[in-house]
Amino acid sequence: MLPLNHRLFKRKKHPTGLCSNCDAEEKENVEHVLLACPAYSKEREEMVYVVSENTPTLQELLNFNDEVTLKAVLDFFNAIGIKARLGF
Ligand SMILES: [Zn+2]
Repeated sequence: MLPLNHRLFKRKKHPTGLCSNCDAEEKENVEHVLLACPAYSKEREEMVYVVSENTPTLQELLNFNDEVTLKAVLDFFNAIGIKARLGF
């Protein structure tokens, strides 16, 4: 899984587990990054445009059996700089 702050927090490797990219004081987990974090809204628009005519659900975005979705999500991670944290 992604080394996001909330997961690191649970492993005692991050002091709060909260997102450090916005002021929402929300846990930085996959759902926050993919669907909610206002810091990534511009990049998210492009991903959503590719994946779905409507706002996709978390389940739809994590449907990595679909090549188009997988590429869009990886491009999103790349655009927001999380890929580096994943070791790509
Ligand atoms: Zn955030």
